[in-house]
Amino acid sequence: MWPYFFIDYWYIVLVIPAMIASLIIQGIMKSTYKKYSSVYAGAGVTGAEMAQRVLREQGITDVVVTETGGELTDHYDPKNKVIKLSSEVYGGRSVSALGVACHEAGHAIQHADSYFPLVARNAFVPVVGFCSGISWFVILIGIFMNAELMINLGIILFASAAVFQFITLPVEFNASKRAVAALRSSGRLSEEEISGTKKVLTAAAMTYVAALAASLASLLRLILITRGNRRR
Ligand SMILES: [Zn+2]
Repeated sequence: MWPYFFIDYWYIVLVIPAMIASLIIQGIMKSTYKKYSSVYAGAGVTGAEMAQRVLREQGITDVVVTETGGELTDHYDPKNKVIKLSSEVYGGRSVSALGVACHEAGHAIQHADSYFPLVARNAFVPVVGFCSGISWFVILIGIFMNAELMINLGIILFASAAVFQFITLPVEFNASKRAVAALRSSGRLSEEEISGTKKVLTAAAMTYVAALAASLASLLRLILITRGNRRR
């Protein structure tokens, strides 16, 4: 039984292709981001200035925009109400920088609006790591004890990761939609520049779709191998 938990038929057929697809999509995302990082937007403002402008327009005054280290580390921290932008985005004036900055501002607006998928996702964050972390342990105990209920519980715990990835999708797509709308209403970007930011944000959103596909592949594999095990 043991080797089946590491490399098995379903791992090769489901999990490895999903992982390869994820890597390819991440590569596309990075190259799209890089490409539009060298395309300067005529707006002439930095990512940080654009994010602040979007927040102001939405009447949000309690969110701070700060600079953080690393590349593609941009995120919104709902706990401290801080938009953290990587240096390239914070001080950048490119199509990529403005798109990413407005996307993060989009998350801050979602937070201020109590946008339901974001609220649900944030509630899920503390439990999902724990649930998927102990899932294999619970499944193995279930198999040793031959307790079907325990195995099913383990699968449900494991499935929490896929549920989390699933809730993440509307959050990400909606933040990008808000970003494009904000950039358009600012009136400072040409349609061509806006279409560039759309490409960058769509490529980024695809990485979340790929992550969900990878989670589902792992879940399906788990169901198939535990079912095979029960038959034996
Ligand atoms: Zn996002």
